[in-house]
Amino acid sequence: MSPPVVLIIGCGIAGPVLGNFFKRKGYHPIVFEKVPELGDAGASLMLMSNGLKVLNLVGLADALKTESTPLQEFWDASQSGKVLGRSDLPSTFNDRYYQPAVGVRRTTVSIKLKQMLLDMDVDVREGWELIDIQENEDSVTAFFDGGRSVTGSFLVGCDGIKAVSRRILLRNQGISEGPPTYTGLTQTAGISETPEALRQTSAMRNWYGDGVHVISYPVGPNHTSWAVTQRETKEKEETWRPYRPDEIPEQRQQLSSLLKGWDPAILQMVNSSERIIKFGLFDREELKPEQWYSRRCVLVGDAAHPTSPHLGQGANQAMEDCFHLSHSMPFLVPGSGQYEENLQILGKNLSQEIFRPFAEKRQPRTSLLVKGARTQGDKRVASGVEACRQRDSDIATAYTDPAAMLARFDSLLPEPFQTL
Ligand SMILES: Cc1cc2nc3c(=O)[nH]c(=O)nc-3n(C[C@H](O)[C@H](O)[C@H](O)COP(=O)(O)OP(=O)(O)OC[C@H]3O[C@@H](n4cnc5c(N)ncnc54)[C@H](O)[C@@H]3O)c2cc1C
Repeated sequence: MSPPVVLIIGCGIAGPVLGNFFKRKGYHPIVFEKVPELGDAGASLMLMSNGLKVLNLVGLADALKTESTPLQEFWDASQSGKVLGRSDLPSTFNDRYYQPAVGVRRTTVSIKLKQMLLDMDVDVREGWELIDIQENEDSVTAFFDGGRSVTGSFLVGCDGIKAVSRRILLRNQGISEGPPTYTGLTQTAGISETPEALRQTSAMRNWYGDGVHVISYPVGPNHTSWAVTQRETKEKEETWRPYRPDEIPEQRQQLSSLLKGWDPAILQMVNSSERIIKFGLFDREELKPEQWYSRRCVLVGDAAHPTSPHLGQGANQAMEDCFHLSHSMPFLVPGSGQYEENLQILGKNLSQEIFRPFAEKRQPRTSLLVKGARTQGDKRVASGVEACRQRDSDIATAYTDPAAMLARFDSLLPEPFQTL
């Protein structure tokens, strides 16, 4: 008997990780991706211990860690570089949570995830854009552009913040959802050779100004990823994109005048970046757990809980989702005593036996983090003298209480499982 087909929509972070897990559990995953060719994928990601633990299960954590330099320090400063606080807490993550935190180029992650699927003989279909879903008693059909369709046992929506899978699930529940919510902030990002002044320690650095925030972290032994966050209306939304090489000098100039008087290391990075990308930051209102799934479909990652990036947890939470969902799916080993019994679980009770507990487990944690990221973004980009003074004072105070800092990470990074 051929294994049940799992339709995985999206080959970003969650899609390929689930493709790996499902294949290893005896299913036949097919990963559909709308872009014609995966590869170039924006700037960078901070992978934290929780996400890296999941990437370790799919065999990629070591490869990603060798591309970069694990984080040793948090370092926060005023715009001119006057230190508000520093902590070597990240240097303890590997011992405390079994994996460090490490910044990586997003393109590297994307290429490695796709290669991992190909090496496992997982069917990856690039250039397949989901447009509709039809659910039956014990199967589901996904419809793609170009008049194509594929039927499987169940479907996992991993299609990100603008997920079509989510729109269809909500539509079928009588809910019409608009586009993602603009948080009022943009980010302009690049990757540059690490300036001499930032080379001593592998640190996540934050600089705070009036209405502007800059973050940087290493994504390799010699390279640093940086991003400038600022408050902006959507007036110039059409300019939010990767800039062409001929537009880079003007972008550098704009950023240099925005950041005049800031720490020279930032200006050095801005002026040496080969690529510059600008994007708006979006999130969405939380869904109730019962809105995460239907009879034959379930949402994971940004499709279920899209977040702004200020806590650096979106991808890490997507990976936690993958772990929990696949962990709750039965193994399907042909010839084993439980094969038939386990197949039954994929029958008409799939949503109640698997999807519902998954959503109920994951929704509260991810909702809190989405709200926390939004608050953190607002705070980072405080405007006005008094608000900035208060923010800087709060940041400096937080560094004087290492136990509270540690408690924050203790609530976040031991997940999704607490062993090596
Ligand atoms: C600026 C920025 C910085 C961030 N930094 C971090 C960070 O440091 N750490 C962190 O943990 N998170 C970070 N995040 C969040 C992180 O990027 C997301 O949470 C994560 O990528 C979600 O993974 P996903 O697999 O759910 O969705 P995605 O990675 O968005 O993947 C979705 C995939 O689905 C495809 N797709 C979309 N629609 C369709 C369709 N109709 N049919 C087929 N395929 C489709 C897309 O092309 C894409 O490949 C950041 C986000 C932003 C915007």
